[in-house]
Amino acid sequence: MDSRTGLPVVGMVGGGQLARMTHQAAISLGQSLRVLAVSEGESAGLVAGEVTYGHHTDPEALRSFARGVDVLTFDHEHVPQPLLRTLADEKVVSRPGPSALAFAQDKLRMRERLAGHGIPGPPFAAVSSTDDVLDFGRAHSWPVVLKAASGGYDGRGVWTMHSADEARALVPELRDAGTPLLVEAKVPMRRELSALVARSPFGQGAAWPVVETVQSDGINTEVLAPAPGLDEARTRHAQDLALRIAEELDVVGVLAVELFETGEGVLVNELAMRPHNSGHWTMDGSRTSQFEQHLRAVLDYPLGSTDPLAPTVMANVLGAPETPSMSVDERLHHLFARFPDVRVHLYGKAERPGRKLGHVNLLGELTDGQRHRARLAAHWLSHAEWPDGYEIH
Ligand code: ADP
Repeated sequence: MDSRTGLPVVGMVGGGQLARMTHQAAISLGQSLRVLAVSEGESAGLVAGEVTYGHHTDPEALRSFARGVDVLTFDHEHVPQPLLRTLADEKVVSRPGPSALAFAQDKLRMRERLAGHGIPGPPFAAVSSTDDVLDFGRAHSWPVVLKAASGGYDGRGVWTMHSADEARALVPELRDAGTPLLVEAKVPMRRELSALVARSPFGQGAAWPVVETVQSDGINTEVLAPAPGLDEARTRHAQDLALRIAEELDVVGVLAVELFETGEGVLVNELAMRPHNSGHWTMDGSRTSQFEQHLRAVLDYPLGSTDPLAPTVMANVLGAPETPSMSVDERLHHLFARFPDVRVHLYGKAERPGRKLGHVNLLGELTDGQRHRARLAAHWLSHAEWPDGYEIH
């Protein structure tokens, strides 16, 4: 409890952009998020009221951080499971709790658990030898998708194997490096979707509209909210699926359920138990943002309305291959002059090629023109140039 405000204190492990934007939402609720950051200069560390420096794998750092807060929550999945369990034994309140988080940390456990509940996903198998992959390829036909069960993100840790020879070349190397593996059938999908929901300890659930997520090189870089052309029945089905997963796994906070849409329906790809890139549109496009909702949920307040204010396009700002000639300040000048309706969210990070530096939201009907303008604005912010083939409407 904060003696000045009389409000409970939330501590977020991880100092990235998700913590930064959660802090932004915390301010409106009269709160100041406490952040455990690894090092100086991290996105949330630059803005949060109280920042503790320490590593999320260091028991003492976590323990002393947890001592000063009422509830611990996370901007990533990297706190090791045994450490989460130790903290729980020491009566630290983590939301989501260790047993829920396990399914966001380990893709194999997640697949086994969801399959046990009859929740649709691609066929999969655990991999303890190259033969497991070869057998799976024979049974389900090539290509197959090999994945690191833990530690992967933004497509790192996902390898498409087109043939037995490719598997023979890669699997031993990954096994030698100690990477825990699983293999999945390659899903012939129409597109990728995300069903974002929140759940409180009280058991209240809330679902935002289901969105389409567009990836480039395995990284989600554009979100269309709501997913264009997704009919009511499929939308409802995806939302129900996500709410059911939240309940079955006892998730508290925001849960993103990444989905593949196929001709027959939807399959679950993976779970994230925290605010998620596919929910950044809610900062401007929904009555309650995912960051505020996450705070409400972890503090067991009633959840906010997830109604959309308008259809929204979100486009991520990714670092350019080379440092642009124009400063960020100048880029913003030009952007604001040309696109006064674009909502800009920058994360305060140093520019590096391919790094997620921010995102833009653009509200209005999801026409090709709107998508184009959002992508243009995002590209401009990091590159200071209009992308090839783009014309300004
Ligand atoms: P990460 O944890 O790195 O985000 P994902 O498991 O979400 O990894 O996979 C990254 C991307 O790889 C997905 O967004 C999707 O485009 C593709 N992918 C993953 N699994 C499959 C699959 N079984 N079939 C087809 N594509 C897949």
